[in-house]
Amino acid sequence: MKKSIFGIFETAKSNLEQTAIRLKLEDAMLKRLLETKEKIEITLNPTLTNGKHIQVKAFIVRHRDSLGPAKGGIRMSGNVTIDDIQGLAMEMTWKTALIGVPFGGGKSGICFDPSGITAEDKEIIIRSFTRGAMRHIGPEIYVPAPDMGTNEMDMGHIRDCLAYSWGKSVTNGCYVTGKPVILGGILGRKEATGRGVAYTTVAACEKQGFDIKSARVAVQGFGNVGSIAAMIISELGAKIVAVSDVTGGIKNEQGIDIKHLLSYVKQCGQVYGYPLAEKCSNEDVLTSNCDILVPAATQSVITAEIAENIKAKIIAEGANSPTTPDADEIFDKKKIFIIPDILCNAGGVFVSYLEYTQETQREQMTLEEVNSRLNNRIVGKFNEVYDYSKEHNLTMRQAAMNIAISKVVEATYAMGILP
Ligand code: NAD
Repeated sequence: MKKSIFGIFETAKSNLEQTAIRLKLEDAMLKRLLETKEKIEITLNPTLTNGKHIQVKAFIVRHRDSLGPAKGGIRMSGNVTIDDIQGLAMEMTWKTALIGVPFGGGKSGICFDPSGITAEDKEIIIRSFTRGAMRHIGPEIYVPAPDMGTNEMDMGHIRDCLAYSWGKSVTNGCYVTGKPVILGGILGRKEATGRGVAYTTVAACEKQGFDIKSARVAVQGFGNVGSIAAMIISELGAKIVAVSDVTGGIKNEQGIDIKHLLSYVKQCGQVYGYPLAEKCSNEDVLTSNCDILVPAATQSVITAEIAENIKAKIIAEGANSPTTPDADEIFDKKKIFIIPDILCNAGGVFVSYLEYTQETQREQMTLEEVNSRLNNRIVGKFNEVYDYSKEHNLTMRQAAMNIAISKVVEATYAMGILP
């Protein structure tokens, strides 16, 4: 597969520049939004359980905070760059504005490949990151959460590391979301992003006039977002015909039993080689014969070259920035319906917001309440973006970007001249 020239930051900047033209933004405002407000690089020097001293780079970015404290996950990956984190933080500014939670955009990155390390060593690195990043984390500054390569256990370690450092049993307010429920996390957060992907996919099927029950679906990425989205979509009656992860793809025209695949992955650690499906490449999954494609892995995977061969009628962007701007133009020509990332995967940050409010009130919300509020909010926002796109003759991505950026711009002007 040819590597795209668009990284996350280039895609985010290109989408912003195009929106600025449509909204006729002042040059000074565009310049402000193109830059991150704050970017920090931290060098960590943890000692692993084998006694080895290692050096790890970590980044924290706050893109904008005119609507509230910066919010965004921690990406742990061997090749994450400060530019990726800047692009992801910018996306978070638009996502929080669009879904209507009082947060700005932030993100952090730990440049270390977590696959294959022990739980103990991962905890050491996460705690080392927390100590190094402590001054930049807080309920009024930046509130992290899980992203690729991190999970709720890691968020539990972050909370503990912060509280422990201050000699307290709890933190005063919400410093991190996506924690284990027992430590003040919220029921349904782990599933919220995938669930939101499924809810918006159902809404898109309704608008496109076909029944999800008869849909054939391909899913790229079988981690938190991809596996949950696949499970819920298959429970709704759709057939999952192809799945992939970083090791490769699998396909089965008759449909893949997602529950069974999940237990296989739990045992073997990967989807490639699952015995009840045929092996295929990652690209085959993206271009497979399906109605709905859910990219839920990583950025810049749908390039112009791939877009030409995509057969799906709906693309539900579970991942952040999976589609490059040149691929977007092709989708526009092919009339493929895109549920853009800042809408499709916003379920996670919405439920993180519920966790943030729950922690202040020290009262546990029920799963029913969480899921019902998530459904109402994300489907409500889907409809708002859809109506706007029809009214202004725009694609779903253009409409979502117009709505989100208008809100951030309005807040920036409302704050006055100093911020
Ligand atoms: P994860 O680490 O749990 O899973 C990632 C999955 O993608 C794994 O199955 C991995 O093998 C696969 N993968 C990685 N590179 C791949 C490639 N090149 N081709 C095919 N598969 C590949 O991560 P996650 O939390 O599920 O996040 C997935 C995407 O969703 C990311 O883009 C992330 O930024 C986005 N996202 C996550 C959340 C969340 O709450 N976790 C919220 C919003 C957006």
